[in-house]
Amino acid sequence: MTQTVPRLDLNSGTSIPQLGFGVFLVDPDDTQRVVEDAIEVGYRHIDTATGYNNETEVGAAIKASGVPREELFVTTKLRNDHHKGRDVEGAFARSLEMLGLDYLDLYLIHWPMPANGFYVDTWRTFETFYADGRAKAIGVSNFLIPHLEDLIAQTDIVPAVNQVELHPIFQQRELRAFHAEHGIHTEAWGPLGQGKYDLFGLPAIQAAAHAHDVTPAQVVLRWHIQTGNIVIPKSNSRQRMAENFDLFGFELTADEMAAIDALDENRRVGGNPAEVN
Ligand code: NAD
Repeated sequence: MTQTVPRLDLNSGTSIPQLGFGVFLVDPDDTQRVVEDAIEVGYRHIDTATGYNNETEVGAAIKASGVPREELFVTTKLRNDHHKGRDVEGAFARSLEMLGLDYLDLYLIHWPMPANGFYVDTWRTFETFYADGRAKAIGVSNFLIPHLEDLIAQTDIVPAVNQVELHPIFQQRELRAFHAEHGIHTEAWGPLGQGKYDLFGLPAIQAAAHAHDVTPAQVVLRWHIQTGNIVIPKSNSRQRMAENFDLFGFELTADEMAAIDALDENRRVGGNPAEVN
């Protein structure tokens, strides 16, 4: 099943499976079982963060899975207090240790925290992780256009990805256009809207689900794939993991895509990066 997931080329020279599995709010006690299930279902891309407090358990699942390291794509993120506390090198080394890995496929600055003024300096440290091979790619998360412009103007490496809140009610058109101009891939967090509003009940999503005999969640995830987003849905349920992985046997029509595109309300369900400091 894994070979059905397209891979996108990153500016690092490596590639990322377009569909991955996110583990935000997966309780550490459940994480090893959940990630082992996800790998069995076929996911080869796992998205965690130091802030999720489950890197050790993600690492245990990776080890127990027996899947060769080079077949997996593992992302983690610098926690805000380590960013603010200027403990970037130490935080990165501890993440590798907790995950039981000697390299990451992608390391992200979790939030820019712009009021602190550290993200350019932090990014220069990230560049050293890429240079020494301990991070095969480096990127950012929750960066707004001015933050990306600062990195592009003041540092050597353009982020490989920007992982941001993105779903049919908050489509991030301007940011996506900026990414495309600079060769940055858009990675969608909260791709299902985090269950914070009734996305699945919207007529455009319901209609496409009926037409293709799939679930509303599959329609939303397929919309992400056809839009070109990297997408990392989360679920503790093995049945939903399998459902969310089964996106490559149908295609939304241009009209169905346009109907979902028209749902954009430019409305976040999560924090505004300008205000998270
Ligand atoms: P999500 O949009 O993936 O939604 C998860 C919710 O949807 C859960 O409540 C789950 O039970 C439900 N769900 C999953 N599959 C379903 C299905 N098939 N049918 C019905 N309901 C279903 O939200 P998320 O977990 O916040 O985002 C995905 C991942 O993105 C996270 O796990 C994490 O890895 C990452 N993330 C990153 C940031 C960041 O700041 N960089 C923030 C939030 C999340």
